[in-house]
Amino acid sequence: MILILHPNVDKKSDSYRLLLQHLEALPDIQVRVHDEHGTEQTLTELYLVGNTLALSEDDMSSLPCVERVVRISEEYRILGRHADEQRPSAFEYNGVKFGQDTLNVFAGLCAVDTPEHVEQMMRALQENGQVCTRMGAYKPRTNPYSFQGHGKDCLPWVFELAGQYGIRVIAMEITHESHVDEINNALEKTGRPTGVLLQIGTRNTQNFELLKSVGRQKVHPVLLKRGFGITLEESLNAAEYLASEGNHKVIFGLRGMKTNMGDPHRNFIDFAHVPVVKRLTRMPVCIDPSHSVGSRDRAPDGLLDVMHVTAQGVIAGANMVLADFHPAPEKALVDGPQALLLSELKPFLDDIAIAREAYLKRCARAREG
Ligand code: PEP
Ligand code: MN
Repeated sequence: MILILHPNVDKKSDSYRLLLQHLEALPDIQVRVHDEHGTEQTLTELYLVGNTLALSEDDMSSLPCVERVVRISEEYRILGRHADEQRPSAFEYNGVKFGQDTLNVFAGLCAVDTPEHVEQMMRALQENGQVCTRMGAYKPRTNPYSFQGHGKDCLPWVFELAGQYGIRVIAMEITHESHVDEINNALEKTGRPTGVLLQIGTRNTQNFELLKSVGRQKVHPVLLKRGFGITLEESLNAAEYLASEGNHKVIFGLRGMKTNMGDPHRNFIDFAHVPVVKRLTRMPVCIDPSHSVGSRDRAPDGLLDVMHVTAQGVIAGANMVLADFHPAPEKALVDGPQALLLSELKPFLDDIAIAREAYLKRCARAREG
């Protein structure tokens, strides 16, 4: 059960103290306090965990400071949709809005290699009006002898270049909690020229200790990729780990499932789950067409498979697109075969705009009944 308190509740007031005293005295109930700091107000939510079936909604609603009460099902307690449509499903980070109604494109390098390539990528993004990108510094690799990413050494110059080219958010995978400290130190040292969306990759979807530690920090939002060999429910529960530790700013990423049933694509495309995740949870949903398709193969109609599946995800309501690009894919240190060229950025964005417009028209049509 969630008790949503009046906005900007004073935690030092007698009524707040009385409320907590009352709740803590309830048998078999634990109380967790969550604060959402918005631009205009702070919203405090109290999560009651335990034998909440014994509690009456009317009794809880009449307690001091309580604005309304939401009874939630066992699953996805925080990120789930439940019966209450008034709870926000959007957040803002470094001036960029993320929600189930918005669409943000994160085109960029799978792995940071040279300052020249990073700069060429960022210049192309700026020329195309983009303020988000992807840049991998820590790469989880199948083979221990493969390039593992430049790690913390590249962060200062990547962040500085991002600032120069107006990039507001970089999606960056982390594979260990110490990477968050390294990112924070580099941001601090460079004067915070940009923001970082912490990405947890498919190989770490159920790394529960990593999820818990990233969930405890509330500075950066998190993009959690779906596990490539587990059920959707298991991956959504992994997202809930982040939220249960305090960080509600979670984006859920679909990136295809590992099975040869998807051949010749690298993974079996699962973008039909975009509306499903939006129905079950309040998370914005990301699609990763690059790691799903894994190649630059082109259909006879002239469109790359990567563009076809991107359109499929966007027309189904995706809120974020994560896509590999590279100024010279043959020189890329990771995933060159699936990278799009900088000259393909504009056609890619145009194609996304066509699919987005079609999605919005479909929604308008559905509202007409
Ligand atoms: C990536 O985005 O670079 C990546 C490794 O993705 P995934 O975790 O989906 O394989
Ligand atoms: Mn990759």
